Amino acid sequence: MSAPPLNFFDLTREALRLHTVRWGFSPVHAARLWSYVYVERTEDWARMADLPARFRDRVAAELAFVRPAVAVETHSRDGFTRKYLLALADGRQIETVLMRYTGRVTACISSQAGCAMGCVFCATGQMGFTRHLTPGEIVAQALHVDRALAEAAAGERLRNLVLMGMGEPLHNYDAVMTAVDILRDPSGLALGARKITLSTVGVVPGILRLADEARPIHLAVSLHGATQAERAALVPAARKWPLEELMDACRYYIAKQERRIFYEWTLIEGKNDTADTAHAVGRLLQGQRAQVNLIPLNPTSGYAGIPTGREAARRFQEILREYGLPSTIRQRRGIDIAAGCGQLAAAN
Ligand code: SAH
Ligand code: SF4
Repeated sequence: MSAPPLNFFDLTREALRLHTVRWGFSPVHAARLWSYVYVERTEDWARMADLPARFRDRVAAELAFVRPAVAVETHSRDGFTRKYLLALADGRQIETVLMRYTGRVTACISSQAGCAMGCVFCATGQMGFTRHLTPGEIVAQALHVDRALAEAAAGERLRNLVLMGMGEPLHNYDAVMTAVDILRDPSGLALGARKITLSTVGVVPGILRLADEARPIHLAVSLHGATQAERAALVPAARKWPLEELMDACRYYIAKQERRIFYEWTLIEGKNDTADTAHAVGRLLQGQRAQVNLIPLNPTSGYAGIPTGREAARRFQEILREYGLPSTIRQRRGIDIAAGCGQLAAAN
């Protein structure tokens, strides 16, 4: 018998409802099945006793619950970070990270196996692009963290999500947004839109599309350079979407969504952390509703730079403040298990 053609985790609640009706069953059963999986955390038909046997048999023949298996789980010495290497159905591997900051748990999930954008300091970029993830493969990562939390602390649920793992989410726009819609579904995992942050390298068409859509998640944009030349040296994608176009798209997004943008800035000693650079960032972003997240460089095998120290990072922050720009310095987490920003890679 061939495998069922549909993966449950690729479907929005509405898509599941439509299939259920097409198969000749009441949409009430679809809603109940959805709740079993996303609220009661089970895919075991035997535990869904209140669903009619005919419905269960038909659905089991039509769709499968395909979730990546955990190949390796590592725990950081910091006690706050766990990394999961997940094996996809075709043998490809991706990484998902669970982070705990002062009582808040966040899942950092991947949108692609590898990445085509080639940022020089990023381990995922260094490995190159393998393929896009399906909505189900994106959803399953959040579900995995949610269930890991349930096991570790009874009743605890996943509330915060960042699309900052492997891959460029706006390069896989449709699958990512379907996954976001599934994760936000109020009858399911019910993640708040304001608890989801998508980080992009600066894919201009994707930013414009997000600006025009009613999907009020947070947007983070990776900047790293304050001039076109400096940025393009670190972020090759800047050659395709130049800084000026990117800033226009960001201003459009802020105006249209009436929301601020988070700019990410990986701090590399002697490269993009000087006072002059901080002033250039200040001038570039002055007047925008923006916040800058400073990330001291995490080590990767393919890049020799060193992270900016605490004092220099603080000075950078002080200068940004002169331009009315709030900023944070990201806490270093999970570095011993290569689970920090830009350290995710998997043998593909
Ligand atoms: N592809 C998306 C999201 C994933 S990367 C993007 O690039 O925005 C999340 C953040 O980590 C990005 O801002 C990225 O530039 C940054 N980053 C990549 N490699 C890093 C490294 N080695 N040290 C610190 N930050 C890094
Ligand atoms: Fe891709 Fe983001 Fe890494 Fe750049 S920083 S290579 S866009 S994952």
